Amino acid sequence: MSEETLSFQTEVAKLLRLMVNSVYSDKEIFLRELISNASDACDKARYLALTEPEILGDDPDFKVHIHVDKTARTLSLSDNGIGMDRDGLIGDLGTIARSGTSAFMENMSGDASEDMQMIGKFGVGFYSVFMIADKVEVTSRRAGEDSAWVWTSDGLGEFTIAEAERTDRGTSIVIHLKADEDEWLEESRLRTIVKKYSDHIALPIMLAIDDGEETAANEASAIWSRPKSEITDEQYTEFYHHVGHAMDDPWLNIHYKAEGKIEYTSLLFVPTRPPFDLFDPARRHAVKLYVRRVFITDEAEGLIPSYLRFLRGVVDSEDLPLNISREMLQNSPLIKHMNQAVTRRVLSELSKKAEKEPEEYAEFWKNFGSVLKEGLYEDHDRQAELLELVRFRSTAGESLVSLKDYVARMTEGQEAIYYITGDDQQTLDNSPHLEGFRARGVEVLLLSDPVDDFWLSAIFEYEGHDLTSATRGSTDLSNMGEEPSKDDDKVEPAKDGELATLIALVKQTLGEAVKDVRTTDRLTDSAVCLVADDGDMDMRLERMLKAHNQLKTDSVRILEINPKHDLIKNMSAAATKGGAADDLADLAFLLLDQARIIEGEALPDPAAFSRRMATVMAKAAG
Ligand code: ADP
Repeated sequence: MSEETLSFQTEVAKLLRLMVNSVYSDKEIFLRELISNASDACDKARYLALTEPEILGDDPDFKVHIHVDKTARTLSLSDNGIGMDRDGLIGDLGTIARSGTSAFMENMSGDASEDMQMIGKFGVGFYSVFMIADKVEVTSRRAGEDSAWVWTSDGLGEFTIAEAERTDRGTSIVIHLKADEDEWLEESRLRTIVKKYSDHIALPIMLAIDDGEETAANEASAIWSRPKSEITDEQYTEFYHHVGHAMDDPWLNIHYKAEGKIEYTSLLFVPTRPPFDLFDPARRHAVKLYVRRVFITDEAEGLIPSYLRFLRGVVDSEDLPLNISREMLQNSPLIKHMNQAVTRRVLSELSKKAEKEPEEYAEFWKNFGSVLKEGLYEDHDRQAELLELVRFRSTAGESLVSLKDYVARMTEGQEAIYYITGDDQQTLDNSPHLEGFRARGVEVLLLSDPVDDFWLSAIFEYEGHDLTSATRGSTDLSNMGEEPSKDDDKVEPAKDGELATLIALVKQTLGEAVKDVRTTDRLTDSAVCLVADDGDMDMRLERMLKAHNQLKTDSVRILEINPKHDLIKNMSAAATKGGAADDLADLAFLLLDQARIIEGEALPDPAAFSRRMATVMAKAAG
């Protein structure tokens, strides 16, 4: 087949333009990215060889060779990994918008150096070679196949693909350096970079300059199998970058060897920044499973619970059979056991961090709290431990509070733990439901993660204290906390008799639209609010389920009115005096609609609302 010319996918072309014109100072990362790809390719071939040993042929030892040709001004990397066939070369290196590439483009800040920092994080590694190359040739032969292909490009919009010669499996990349990029021909420079980025991987990397002898450039032993005392922070960080395709520093690393009935080594990292695909179900580069230093998969379902999916790193088992299929992994009791042991360990490390370094823990919580909270309803066995790790914003101030702190500072007469859920912090802060709690100094937890509604429907108490929604039921605040301030006390409520008349009138007017109408001490500034009856579903959960078409019907709410509010007092007096029935009916409907608006609910009949509002406004203006 003759040479064929193809165009890069639009996103890729954009990214390449950034690379080609890069003024980024840290260009050496291109080598890290290429070695990382070679290492992944060797891992894949090693795994495939477990079931198809013939693919190894007479070349069973995995290696990367780096060769410098000073006369031709080329730097070449060659691996004997899995290789790519024609489709692989076209798709992986040019026409498929990898999720990483699109996410990278979306996250670009416009600041070239900041954007370059993100390269590794978004897995757009290969293209970084165009920072230093004006032409790149990739020759590859897929393991088990007879034909080889060469991909060539100058990184400017197009690439060519043609049939090629290659005797064995694997990939060779020849990099033609740009005019002012001679530093990549220097032996000492290359050795330093290889060591820095690749000492931790088990793959030998060999370096040769011109016709000189080839010598090892890295230590080539798996970092996790070495004793902790021999590993520097920099080495941990480099390995985290490699294994997690990340650019940030690890926030926490957890490295231990479990011995006993089940033996395995874990080297896990909690990132400092949330990975961009934290909520993407097709997420890659999570925790990799190895068996006795052989890479098995990075999709070992069941190895890490999904609520710890922010973890990166490696679990290396001594007990699993090497030839275990990915399907068999799913039902393996050993995987289940490691899952439990790893989970226990991670939660206990988090708990130590929470205790010793609460401020750093608060940062972790901001990034991953909403993920960890999924464990509250997914993992019953760990509920108690997770409840100790959960942090909340509350009415008490800006700093995060644990349930333990909350209980320790509960006010006199308070039995329950109060919370309110809502779509965002601002709506929560302004919620009328909190007025009475605030006035009495009763702390309320402010929950604005969608996941909160789910765990709250599975957990009802903490250490004997009910978790109670501040928007629900007949919360009696009168014997809790300090008395509201004197100013507030001076405000006379509407007279009991008049209030009863108003309540009867509003009930009659609103009919089936409300479950009940009653007075409340929940409010201080607002006139009305809606609450769910004690046994009914929380209002926000109901709204969410309806938004996802999981619920068709509406629950009917209780309308609570504030007897100290001028509007209620005036309406009570008017109702008692026998004021105009139409006016009072309009006001009753408006009270209900107002309560719905504050609650963030859609009005069932906006036209009627607007008509009534206009009538009332016309009277006020007249
Ligand atoms: P990433 O490594 O994050 O997937 P890259 O752009 O570096 O992104 O590589 C794209 C893809 O090209 C890889 O996922 C892999 O499938 C393929 N690839 C790159 N280098 C090699 C190699 N040396 N051997 C085999 N496949 C490779």
